[in-house]
Amino acid sequence: MSWKKNRNFKERKKLVIAQYGLRYGKGMKQIIVLGSTGSIGTQTLDVVRNHRGSLGIAALAAGSNIDILERQIREFSPKLVCVYDEKKAGELAVKTVDLEVKIVSGMEGLLECATVPEAELVVAAIVGMIGIRPVIAAIKEGKDIALANKETLVTAGHIILPLIREHGRKLLPVDSEHSAVFQCLQGNDGKEVEKIILTASGGPFRGKTREELKKITLEDALKHPNWSMGKKITIDSSTMVNKGLEVMEAKWLFGVDYDQIEVVVQPQSVIHSMVEYKDGAVLAQLGTPDMHLPIQYALFYPHRVFLPGERLDFAKMGYINFERPDMETFSGLKLAYDAGRRGGTMPTVFNAANECAVALFMERKIAYLEIAEWIAYAMTRHESLWKQNPDVDDILETEKWTYECIREGRGI
Ligand code: NAD
Ligand code: MG
Repeated sequence: MSWKKNRNFKERKKLVIAQYGLRYGKGMKQIIVLGSTGSIGTQTLDVVRNHRGSLGIAALAAGSNIDILERQIREFSPKLVCVYDEKKAGELAVKTVDLEVKIVSGMEGLLECATVPEAELVVAAIVGMIGIRPVIAAIKEGKDIALANKETLVTAGHIILPLIREHGRKLLPVDSEHSAVFQCLQGNDGKEVEKIILTASGGPFRGKTREELKKITLEDALKHPNWSMGKKITIDSSTMVNKGLEVMEAKWLFGVDYDQIEVVVQPQSVIHSMVEYKDGAVLAQLGTPDMHLPIQYALFYPHRVFLPGERLDFAKMGYINFERPDMETFSGLKLAYDAGRRGGTMPTVFNAANECAVALFMERKIAYLEIAEWIAYAMTRHESLWKQNPDVDDILETEKWTYECIREGRGI
Protein backbone atom coordinates (compact mmCIF):
# COMPACT_ATOMS: atom_id res chain seq x y z
CA MET A 1 0.00 0.00 0.00
CA SER A 2 1.36 3.41 -0.93
CA TRP A 3 1.99 6.07 1.66
CA LYS A 4 -0.86 8.15 0.26
CA LYS A 5 -3.36 5.32 0.41
CA ASN A 6 -2.21 4.47 3.87
CA ARG A 7 -2.82 8.01 5.06
CA ASN A 8 -6.23 7.98 3.46
CA PHE A 9 -7.06 4.79 5.28
CA LYS A 10 -6.03 6.32 8.60
CA GLU A 11 -8.11 9.42 7.96
CA ARG A 12 -11.13 7.31 7.07
CA LYS A 13 -10.67 5.15 10.13
CA LYS A 14 -10.49 8.29 12.24
CA LEU A 15 -13.77 9.52 10.77
CA VAL A 16 -15.56 6.22 11.26
CA ILE A 17 -14.28 5.97 14.81
CA ALA A 18 -15.38 9.54 15.57
CA GLN A 19 -18.78 8.87 14.06
CA TYR A 20 -19.35 5.92 16.34
CA GLY A 21 -18.01 7.73 19.38
CA LEU A 22 -15.00 5.47 19.64
CA ARG A 23 -11.65 6.90 20.54
CA TYR A 24 -8.81 7.18 18.12
CA GLY A 25 -5.16 6.67 18.92
CA LYS A 26 -5.33 6.94 22.69
CA GLY A 27 -6.91 3.53 23.33
CA MET A 28 -9.77 2.99 25.72
CA LYS A 29 -11.39 5.78 27.71
CA GLN A 30 -10.82 4.77 31.31
CA ILE A 31 -13.59 5.62 33.72
CA ILE A 32 -14.20 5.43 37.46
CA VAL A 33 -17.63 4.48 38.80
CA LEU A 34 -18.42 5.68 42.32
CA GLY A 35 -21.56 3.88 43.53
CA SER A 36 -21.10 0.99 41.09
CA THR A 37 -23.51 -1.41 42.83
CA GLY A 38 -26.50 0.95 42.71
CA SER A 39 -29.14 1.62 40.10
CA ILE A 40 -27.08 4.18 38.13
CA GLY A 41 -23.79 2.34 38.79
CA THR A 42 -24.97 -1.01 37.39
CA GLN A 43 -26.56 0.69 34.37
CA THR A 44 -23.28 2.51 33.76
CA LEU A 45 -21.54 -0.86 33.70
CA ASP A 46 -24.16 -2.12 31.19
CA VAL A 47 -23.08 0.70 28.88
CA VAL A 48 -19.41 -0.16 29.41
CA ARG A 49 -20.19 -3.84 28.69
CA ASN A 50 -21.80 -2.82 25.38
CA HIS A 51 -18.73 -0.76 24.40
CA ARG A 52 -15.82 -2.84 25.59
CA GLY A 53 -13.57 -1.60 22.80
CA SER A 54 -13.85 2.02 23.81
CA LEU A 55 -14.58 2.12 27.55
CA GLY A 56 -12.60 0.55 30.37
CA ILE A 57 -12.97 0.56 34.17
CA ALA A 58 -10.07 1.97 36.21
CA ALA A 59 -11.76 1.94 39.63
CA LEU A 60 -15.03 1.12 41.36
CA ALA A 61 -16.48 2.18 44.70
CA ALA A 62 -19.54 1.17 46.69
CA GLY A 63 -20.87 1.22 50.23
CA SER A 64 -20.99 -2.42 51.34
CA ASN A 65 -22.44 -4.78 48.72
CA ILE A 66 -19.36 -6.93 48.19
CA ASP A 67 -21.13 -9.76 46.35
CA ILE A 68 -22.07 -7.48 43.47
CA LEU A 69 -18.66 -5.81 43.68
CA GLU A 70 -16.84 -9.11 43.40
CA ARG A 71 -18.78 -9.97 40.24
CA GLN A 72 -18.01 -6.51 38.83
CA ILE A 73 -14.30 -6.87 39.60
CA ARG A 74 -14.14 -10.26 37.86
CA GLU A 75 -15.92 -8.85 34.82
CA PHE A 76 -14.29 -5.41 34.44
CA SER A 77 -10.83 -5.85 36.06
CA PRO A 78 -10.44 -2.48 37.81
CA LYS A 79 -7.07 -2.00 39.49
CA LEU A 80 -8.56 -0.24 42.53
CA VAL A 81 -11.81 -0.79 44.43
CA CYS A 82 -13.17 0.98 47.49
CA VAL A 83 -15.70 -0.55 49.88
CA TYR A 84 -16.64 2.23 52.28
CA ASP A 85 -17.31 -0.25 55.08
CA GLU A 86 -13.87 -1.33 56.37
CA LYS A 87 -14.91 -4.79 57.54
CA LYS A 88 -16.58 -5.57 54.21
CA ALA A 89 -13.47 -4.27 52.42
CA GLY A 90 -11.42 -6.87 54.30
CA GLU A 91 -13.86 -9.62 53.31
CA LEU A 92 -13.72 -8.55 49.67
CA ALA A 93 -9.90 -8.55 49.74
CA VAL A 94 -10.02 -12.20 50.85
CA LYS A 95 -12.56 -13.11 48.13
CA THR A 96 -10.43 -11.51 45.41
CA VAL A 97 -7.02 -12.68 46.56
CA ASP A 98 -6.51 -14.43 43.20
CA LEU A 99 -6.86 -11.12 41.32
CA GLU A 100 -4.59 -8.11 40.84
CA VAL A 101 -6.85 -5.60 42.51
CA LYS A 102 -6.16 -3.31 45.43
CA ILE A 103 -9.06 -2.96 47.89
CA VAL A 104 -9.31 0.20 49.98
CA SER A 105 -11.94 1.59 52.36
CA GLY A 106 -13.41 4.68 54.04
CA MET A 107 -13.28 8.27 52.80
CA GLU A 108 -9.54 7.97 52.15
CA GLY A 109 -10.19 4.99 49.89
CA LEU A 110 -13.02 6.80 48.13
CA LEU A 111 -10.72 9.74 47.41
CA GLU A 112 -8.00 7.39 46.14
CA CYS A 113 -10.53 5.79 43.80
CA ALA A 114 -11.82 9.15 42.55
CA THR A 115 -8.32 10.22 41.52
CA VAL A 116 -6.79 7.15 39.79
CA PRO A 117 -4.33 8.80 37.36
CA GLU A 118 -5.16 6.93 34.12
CA ALA A 119 -8.91 7.64 34.29
CA GLU A 120 -10.30 10.71 32.57
CA LEU A 121 -13.93 10.59 33.70
CA VAL A 122 -15.67 9.87 36.98
CA VAL A 123 -19.28 8.70 37.11
CA ALA A 124 -20.54 10.12 40.41
CA ALA A 125 -23.37 7.71 41.25
CA ILE A 126 -23.10 7.52 45.02
CA VAL A 127 -26.29 8.45 46.83
CA GLY A 128 -26.08 11.29 49.35
CA MET A 129 -23.72 14.07 50.42
CA ILE A 130 -20.87 11.59 50.95
CA GLY A 131 -20.31 12.20 47.22
CA ILE A 132 -19.12 15.81 47.59
CA ARG A 133 -15.47 15.23 48.57
CA PRO A 134 -14.68 12.61 45.91
CA VAL A 135 -16.17 14.83 43.19
CA ILE A 136 -14.07 17.80 44.32
CA ALA A 137 -10.93 15.63 44.48
CA ALA A 138 -11.58 14.25 40.99
CA ILE A 139 -12.03 17.71 39.43
CA LYS A 140 -8.81 18.90 41.06
CA GLU A 141 -7.05 15.91 39.50
CA GLY A 142 -8.30 16.97 36.05
CA LYS A 143 -11.15 14.50 35.58
CA ASP A 144 -14.43 15.17 33.80
CA ILE A 145 -17.50 14.38 35.88
CA ALA A 146 -20.63 12.53 34.75
CA LEU A 147 -22.87 13.56 37.61
CA ALA A 148 -25.83 11.53 38.88
CA ASN A 149 -25.27 12.44 42.54
CA LYS A 150 -27.51 15.53 42.60
CA GLU A 151 -26.89 16.13 46.33
CA THR A 152 -23.39 17.33 45.43
CA LEU A 153 -24.69 20.20 43.30
CA VAL A 154 -27.65 21.00 45.54
CA THR A 155 -25.44 21.53 48.58
CA ALA A 156 -22.10 22.54 47.06
CA GLY A 157 -22.93 23.90 43.58
CA HIS A 158 -21.28 27.20 44.51
CA ILE A 159 -18.01 25.28 45.09
CA ILE A 160 -18.23 22.74 42.24
CA LEU A 161 -19.03 25.09 39.35
CA PRO A 162 -16.12 27.52 39.88
CA LEU A 163 -13.82 24.51 40.34
CA ILE A 164 -14.98 22.99 37.03
CA ARG A 165 -14.25 26.29 35.28
CA GLU A 166 -10.88 26.74 37.01
CA HIS A 167 -9.72 23.26 35.95
CA GLY A 168 -11.30 23.45 32.49
CA ARG A 169 -13.25 20.22 33.01
CA LYS A 170 -16.64 19.02 31.77
CA LEU A 171 -19.61 18.55 34.10
CA LEU A 172 -21.93 16.18 32.25
CA PRO A 173 -25.42 15.66 33.67
CA VAL A 174 -26.66 12.09 34.11
CA ASP A 175 -29.99 12.93 35.70
CA SER A 176 -32.45 12.35 32.83
CA GLU A 177 -34.07 15.81 33.00
CA HIS A 178 -30.74 17.62 33.06
CA SER A 179 -29.33 15.46 30.33
CA ALA A 180 -32.41 16.38 28.27
CA VAL A 181 -31.83 20.09 28.89
CA PHE A 182 -28.13 19.65 28.11
CA GLN A 183 -29.02 17.93 24.83
CA CYS A 184 -31.47 20.75 23.96
CA LEU A 185 -28.71 23.30 24.58
CA GLN A 186 -26.29 21.74 22.08
CA GLY A 187 -25.57 24.09 19.20
CA ASN A 188 -27.42 26.97 20.88
CA ASP A 189 -26.29 29.93 22.94
CA GLY A 190 -27.05 29.47 26.64
CA LYS A 191 -27.48 33.25 26.95
CA GLU A 192 -30.53 33.06 24.68
CA VAL A 193 -32.41 30.72 27.03
CA GLU A 194 -35.66 32.15 28.37
CA LYS A 195 -36.52 29.28 30.69
CA ILE A 196 -35.89 25.67 31.51
CA ILE A 197 -38.91 23.41 31.76
CA LEU A 198 -38.28 20.35 33.90
CA THR A 199 -40.82 17.61 33.41
CA ALA A 200 -42.07 15.49 36.29
CA SER A 201 -44.07 12.28 36.15
CA GLY A 202 -46.00 13.41 39.22
CA GLY A 203 -45.17 10.06 40.83
CA PRO A 204 -47.60 7.37 41.96
CA PHE A 205 -49.75 9.78 44.02
CA ARG A 206 -50.48 12.44 41.41
CA GLY A 207 -53.98 13.84 41.87
CA LYS A 208 -54.33 12.59 45.44
CA THR A 209 -55.49 14.88 48.26
CA ARG A 210 -53.64 15.40 51.55
CA GLU A 211 -56.36 13.36 53.24
CA GLU A 212 -55.61 10.43 50.93
CA LEU A 213 -51.85 10.82 51.39
CA LYS A 214 -52.19 10.33 55.16
CA LYS A 215 -52.65 6.59 54.57
CA ILE A 216 -49.70 6.04 52.20
CA THR A 217 -47.47 3.13 53.20
CA LEU A 218 -43.81 2.46 52.41
CA GLU A 219 -44.82 -0.17 49.84
CA ASP A 220 -47.09 2.35 48.05
CA ALA A 221 -44.30 4.94 47.92
CA LEU A 222 -41.77 2.47 46.50
CA LYS A 223 -43.83 1.91 43.34
CA HIS A 224 -42.83 4.42 40.66
CA PRO A 225 -45.12 4.36 37.62
CA ASN A 226 -42.40 4.79 34.95
CA TRP A 227 -38.81 4.64 36.21
CA SER A 228 -36.95 1.90 38.04
CA MET A 229 -34.53 3.56 40.51
CA GLY A 230 -32.85 3.29 43.93
CA LYS A 231 -35.20 3.28 46.97
CA LYS A 232 -34.44 6.76 48.26
CA ILE A 233 -34.93 8.51 44.93
CA THR A 234 -38.15 6.53 44.34
CA ILE A 235 -39.60 7.91 47.59
CA ASP A 236 -38.27 11.38 46.69
CA SER A 237 -40.07 11.16 43.35
CA SER A 238 -43.35 10.36 45.06
CA THR A 239 -43.07 13.38 47.39
CA MET A 240 -41.80 15.61 44.53
CA VAL A 241 -38.75 16.39 46.70
CA ASN A 242 -36.72 14.81 43.90
CA LYS A 243 -38.08 17.43 41.49
CA GLY A 244 -37.18 20.09 44.06
CA LEU A 245 -33.61 18.81 44.23
CA GLU A 246 -33.56 18.81 40.42
CA VAL A 247 -34.67 22.45 40.33
CA MET A 248 -31.63 23.34 42.46
CA GLU A 249 -29.41 21.07 40.36
CA ALA A 250 -30.61 22.85 37.18
CA LYS A 251 -29.85 26.26 38.67
CA TRP A 252 -26.19 25.33 39.03
CA LEU A 253 -25.77 23.26 35.88
CA PHE A 254 -27.31 25.84 33.56
CA GLY A 255 -26.60 29.10 35.41
CA VAL A 256 -30.23 30.30 35.44
CA ASP A 257 -32.33 32.02 38.13
CA TYR A 258 -35.07 30.16 39.97
CA ASP A 259 -37.67 32.29 38.16
CA GLN A 260 -36.43 30.73 34.93
CA ILE A 261 -37.02 27.15 36.06
CA GLU A 262 -40.54 25.79 35.65
CA VAL A 263 -41.79 22.35 36.57
CA VAL A 264 -44.54 20.77 34.52
CA VAL A 265 -46.15 17.39 35.19
CA GLN A 266 -46.10 15.08 32.17
CA PRO A 267 -47.31 11.71 33.48
CA GLN A 268 -46.03 9.51 30.62
CA SER A 269 -42.31 10.41 31.21
CA VAL A 270 -41.76 10.67 27.47
CA ILE A 271 -40.56 14.28 27.32
CA HIS A 272 -37.52 14.30 29.56
CA SER A 273 -37.33 18.12 29.75
CA MET A 274 -37.37 21.22 27.55
CA VAL A 275 -35.69 24.55 26.92
CA GLU A 276 -37.59 27.66 25.87
CA TYR A 277 -35.53 30.25 23.99
CA LYS A 278 -36.03 34.00 23.79
CA ASP A 279 -37.84 33.75 20.44
CA GLY A 280 -40.46 31.43 21.93
CA ALA A 281 -39.06 28.24 20.35
CA VAL A 282 -39.18 25.26 22.69
CA LEU A 283 -36.76 22.37 22.22
CA ALA A 284 -37.49 19.07 23.92
CA GLN A 285 -35.73 15.71 24.24
CA LEU A 286 -37.98 12.69 24.09
CA GLY A 287 -37.41 8.99 24.49
CA THR A 288 -38.51 5.92 26.41
CA PRO A 289 -37.76 6.17 30.15
CA ASP A 290 -34.37 4.44 30.22
CA MET A 291 -31.43 5.79 32.24
CA HIS A 292 -28.97 4.04 29.92
CA LEU A 293 -29.47 6.88 27.44
CA PRO A 294 -28.42 9.84 29.63
CA ILE A 295 -25.59 7.72 31.08
CA GLN A 296 -24.33 6.75 27.64
CA TYR A 297 -24.67 10.32 26.32
CA ALA A 298 -22.47 11.54 29.20
CA LEU A 299 -19.86 8.82 28.60
CA PHE A 300 -19.62 9.41 24.83
CA TYR A 301 -20.41 13.15 24.72
CA PRO A 302 -20.57 14.78 22.19
CA HIS A 303 -21.16 11.57 20.20
CA ARG A 304 -24.28 9.48 19.95
CA VAL A 305 -23.83 5.74 19.65
CA PHE A 306 -26.22 2.86 19.24
CA LEU A 307 -28.25 1.97 22.31
CA PRO A 308 -30.34 -1.19 22.19
CA GLY A 309 -33.87 -0.90 23.53
CA GLU A 310 -37.39 0.17 22.78
CA ARG A 311 -38.07 3.17 20.58
CA LEU A 312 -40.97 5.63 20.86
CA ASP A 313 -43.98 4.81 18.75
CA PHE A 314 -45.93 8.06 18.59
CA ALA A 315 -49.00 6.68 16.87
CA LYS A 316 -49.23 3.95 19.50
CA MET A 317 -48.74 6.48 22.30
CA GLY A 318 -51.56 8.64 20.96
CA TYR A 319 -51.20 11.62 23.29
CA ILE A 320 -49.01 13.31 25.87
CA ASN A 321 -50.68 15.49 28.50
CA PHE A 322 -49.50 18.18 30.89
CA GLU A 323 -50.51 19.52 34.31
CA ARG A 324 -49.25 22.11 36.74
CA PRO A 325 -47.65 20.53 39.82
CA ASP A 326 -49.76 20.64 42.97
CA MET A 327 -47.33 22.42 45.29
CA GLU A 328 -49.86 22.68 48.11
CA THR A 329 -50.30 18.92 48.47
CA PHE A 330 -46.70 18.10 47.51
CA SER A 331 -45.15 20.90 49.55
CA GLY A 332 -41.63 19.42 49.19
CA LEU A 333 -41.35 21.10 45.79
CA LYS A 334 -42.31 24.52 47.14
CA LEU A 335 -39.90 24.11 50.05
CA ALA A 336 -37.13 23.32 47.55
CA TYR A 337 -37.74 26.59 45.67
CA ASP A 338 -37.67 28.42 49.04
CA ALA A 339 -34.42 26.69 50.07
CA GLY A 340 -32.81 27.31 46.69
CA ARG A 341 -33.74 30.99 46.67
CA ARG A 342 -32.42 31.41 50.22
CA GLY A 343 -29.19 29.71 49.13
CA GLY A 344 -26.13 29.35 51.41
CA THR A 345 -26.60 26.51 53.89
CA MET A 346 -30.40 26.24 53.35
CA PRO A 347 -30.31 23.74 50.45
CA THR A 348 -28.12 21.51 52.64
CA VAL A 349 -30.74 21.67 55.40
CA PHE A 350 -33.47 20.86 52.88
CA ASN A 351 -31.51 17.88 51.54
CA ALA A 352 -30.32 16.54 54.91
CA ALA A 353 -33.75 16.92 56.52
CA ASN A 354 -35.25 14.99 53.63
CA GLU A 355 -32.58 12.25 53.87
CA CYS A 356 -33.24 11.95 57.59
CA ALA A 357 -37.04 11.97 57.21
CA VAL A 358 -37.00 9.46 54.33
CA ALA A 359 -34.80 7.13 56.41
CA LEU A 360 -37.33 7.42 59.28
CA PHE A 361 -40.20 6.75 56.88
CA MET A 362 -38.39 3.68 55.54
CA GLU A 363 -37.97 2.48 59.13
CA ARG A 364 -41.74 3.08 59.50
CA LYS A 365 -41.11 5.59 62.31
CA ILE A 366 -42.89 8.54 60.71
CA ALA A 367 -45.89 8.93 58.40
CA TYR A 368 -45.59 9.81 54.73
CA LEU A 369 -46.80 13.42 55.07
CA GLU A 370 -44.36 14.04 57.91
CA ILE A 371 -41.43 13.92 55.46
CA ALA A 372 -42.22 17.42 54.16
CA GLU A 373 -43.19 18.59 57.66
CA TRP A 374 -39.75 17.72 59.04
CA ILE A 375 -38.07 19.51 56.13
CA ALA A 376 -40.11 22.64 56.89
CA TYR A 377 -39.34 22.31 60.60
CA ALA A 378 -35.57 22.07 60.07
CA MET A 379 -35.55 24.96 57.59
CA THR A 380 -37.38 27.25 60.03
CA ARG A 381 -35.08 26.28 62.90
CA HIS A 382 -32.01 26.87 60.74
CA GLU A 383 -32.84 30.49 59.91
CA SER A 384 -30.86 31.91 62.86
CA LEU A 385 -27.80 29.79 61.99
CA TRP A 386 -27.93 30.33 58.22
CA LYS A 387 -24.61 30.98 56.49
CA GLN A 388 -24.12 32.60 53.10
CA ASN A 389 -21.14 30.95 51.48
CA PRO A 390 -20.47 27.64 53.22
CA ASP A 391 -17.28 25.67 52.59
CA VAL A 392 -17.31 21.86 52.55
CA ASP A 393 -16.77 21.65 56.32
CA ASP A 394 -19.67 24.06 56.92
CA ILE A 395 -21.87 21.96 54.62
CA LEU A 396 -21.05 18.73 56.44
CA GLU A 397 -21.53 20.48 59.82
CA THR A 398 -24.92 21.73 58.62
CA GLU A 399 -25.83 18.19 57.61
CA LYS A 400 -25.01 16.97 61.14
CA TRP A 401 -26.88 19.90 62.69
CA THR A 402 -29.98 19.04 60.66
CA TYR A 403 -30.00 15.40 61.81
CA GLU A 404 -29.57 16.60 65.40
CA CYS A 405 -32.33 19.19 64.97
CA ILE A 406 -34.82 16.54 63.82
CA ARG A 407 -33.74 14.11 66.57
CA GLU A 408 -34.33 16.84 69.21
CA GLY A 409 -37.60 17.84 67.55
CA ARG A 410 -38.83 14.26 67.87
CA GLY A 411 -37.81 14.29 71.55
CA ILE A 412 -35.18 11.56 71.17
P1 NAD B 1 -28.72 3.43 44.80
O1 NAD B 1 -29.15 3.44 46.22
O2 NAD B 1 -29.30 2.42 43.88
O3 NAD B 1 -27.12 3.27 44.75
C1 NAD B 1 -26.27 4.06 45.52
C2 NAD B 1 -24.83 3.62 45.36
O4 NAD B 1 -24.03 4.41 46.25
C3 NAD B 1 -24.58 2.16 45.74
O5 NAD B 1 -23.60 1.62 44.87
C4 NAD B 1 -23.99 2.26 47.15
O6 NAD B 1 -23.15 1.18 47.48
C5 NAD B 1 -23.20 3.55 46.99
N1 NAD B 1 -22.86 4.15 48.28
C6 NAD B 1 -23.71 4.52 49.27
N2 NAD B 1 -23.01 4.99 50.31
C7 NAD B 1 -21.69 4.92 49.96
C8 NAD B 1 -20.48 5.25 50.59
N3 NAD B 1 -20.46 5.74 51.84
N4 NAD B 1 -19.31 5.05 49.92
C9 NAD B 1 -19.32 4.53 48.68
N5 NAD B 1 -20.44 4.20 48.03
C10 NAD B 1 -21.61 4.40 48.65
O7 NAD B 1 -28.95 4.90 44.24
P2 NAD B 1 -29.22 5.37 42.74
O8 NAD B 1 -30.67 5.34 42.48
O9 NAD B 1 -28.29 4.69 41.81
O10 NAD B 1 -28.83 6.90 42.85
C11 NAD B 1 -27.48 7.35 42.90
C12 NAD B 1 -27.47 8.85 42.70
O11 NAD B 1 -27.96 9.14 41.39
C13 NAD B 1 -28.39 9.62 43.67
O12 NAD B 1 -27.80 10.84 43.98
C14 NAD B 1 -29.66 9.83 42.85
O13 NAD B 1 -30.36 10.97 43.26
C15 NAD B 1 -29.08 10.01 41.46
N6 NAD B 1 -30.00 9.67 40.36
C16 NAD B 1 -30.49 8.40 40.24
C17 NAD B 1 -31.35 8.09 39.21
C18 NAD B 1 -31.88 6.68 39.02
O14 NAD B 1 -32.56 6.43 38.03
N7 NAD B 1 -31.59 5.76 39.89
C19 NAD B 1 -31.74 9.07 38.28
C20 NAD B 1 -31.21 10.34 38.43
C21 NAD B 1 -30.34 10.64 39.47
MG1 MG C 1 -34.35 12.92 37.36
